[in-house]
Amino acid sequence: MRPVVTPRSGHSISRKDIDPCALKVLYRLYRAGHTAYLVGGGVRDLLLGVEPKDFDVATDAHPVRIKKLFRNCVLVGRRFRLAHVRFGPTVIEVSTFRRTPDPEELEESEDLLIRRDNTFGTPEDDALRRDFTINALFYDIGTYSLIDFVGGMRDVEDGLVRCIGDPDVRLQEDPVRMLRAVKFAARLGFDIVDKDLAAIARHRGKLDQAAVPRLLEEMYKFLRGGAAAGSFKMLQDLGLLEHFVPEAAAYLSRTVDPEHPEEAALYRSLFGLDAVLRRHRGPDPTNSLLLGALLVPQLETHLVESGASAETVWTATDDEIEEAFELVAMPLIRRFMVARRDTDRLRRILFAQRRLAAGRDRRSAAAEKQHWFHEAVALLRVGARVHENLKDVAKTWTRRAREVEAIPEPRGPRRGGRPRRRGGGEDGDHGGRGGRGGRGGRGRGGR
Ligand code: ATP
Ligand code: MG
Repeated sequence: MRPVVTPRSGHSISRKDIDPCALKVLYRLYRAGHTAYLVGGGVRDLLLGVEPKDFDVATDAHPVRIKKLFRNCVLVGRRFRLAHVRFGPTVIEVSTFRRTPDPEELEESEDLLIRRDNTFGTPEDDALRRDFTINALFYDIGTYSLIDFVGGMRDVEDGLVRCIGDPDVRLQEDPVRMLRAVKFAARLGFDIVDKDLAAIARHRGKLDQAAVPRLLEEMYKFLRGGAAAGSFKMLQDLGLLEHFVPEAAAYLSRTVDPEHPEEAALYRSLFGLDAVLRRHRGPDPTNSLLLGALLVPQLETHLVESGASAETVWTATDDEIEEAFELVAMPLIRRFMVARRDTDRLRRILFAQRRLAAGRDRRSAAAEKQHWFHEAVALLRVGARVHENLKDVAKTWTRRAREVEAIPEPRGPRRGGRPRRRGGGEDGDHGGRGGRGGRGGRGRGGR
């Protein structure tokens, strides 16, 4: 098939919008005689005038050749099919054009690459193996033109998310694509085409079989992506949420007023998260903050229903929070196998809420010396979007947080045993938290 080629004069992508590291990689491959394309979400976002999260490159150079061309390169992935070229903190992922293996080849599996070099393919194969048309555009560094094998340009212009090929096949072969469709639709304000919506309705149950770590990664992406409220609403409306985050789906079914869905506490909390993240500067928000915004409304409903003295996490006692956490948060945390350091940190920022909400005094000021301080303030700001009465105190702490430098999470050998129960106080407990800052979430799994 011949692609539709849009020359430089016909599209808006300019080299100055491309990360200099990605440009370096593209040019070095090109000058060494290879085809080199910028691919995937980076091209889509540049066309839409959105700042891309990462820049991926595809080429006809084989991984071993890529490694020779770049000293700062490591081969990764199953059977070393991908190259990561590192420039300090920036990683440019370079993949050799790939095709979808035939089913009988998949069964033989494992050492296909070694015996037969049939994992690799043409640029067209590489476009067709991708998930959605908007994610399969190539920007050619040799001509500065856009190469489109799948009608992606039109769908970008029309604002449509559309599977490449037959959605019944593509969504069943990788059910996580259903989540990805919603992610792009919600984040970009696009519509999912009817044919794909119908396929999602048929196959949503297949999500139950998806690997838990991939689902967790997608959940963090939804929460971190700036359109969490819209995404969760769309997931719930399409019947996907009950197969993805069943706890949240059940909670929404109980608490949403169909006349005013946007007033549901969970949607309001996620709107709050979106708003706080939009203004967020500095390092990536940690997974713990994201989980906090997701879980606080459910914790509060539990507080109310269990007849606790308080109805919000900003007034509840440590014991009440501890009980609600165990009953409401832990089932989700266990099922998703959330990292221990993220759970620990989440507890700490939750336990800190009551002290922060009480205002800044000598006792609460001790929180400023904790590595989780900025996040605890961020969760308070999310809360202030739901509870009017927290607005002023959230402002006070936000101002203070600007003056206080973030303290890195202490590293330490991982110690066994449970985290301290009343973890959120000004206890100066810096020891024994395994791992480094609960950032994560920029993982690149899921191919
Ligand atoms: P984001 O802005 O969230 O990073 P992205 O489109 O760049 O979005 P990635 O997960 O970074 O998404 O993947 C990069 C590219 O790899 C995608 O644009 C798509 O072409 C391809 N891809 C990723 N996941 C899948 C999948 N499950 N099935 C097919 N192709 C995929
Ligand atoms: Mg990407």
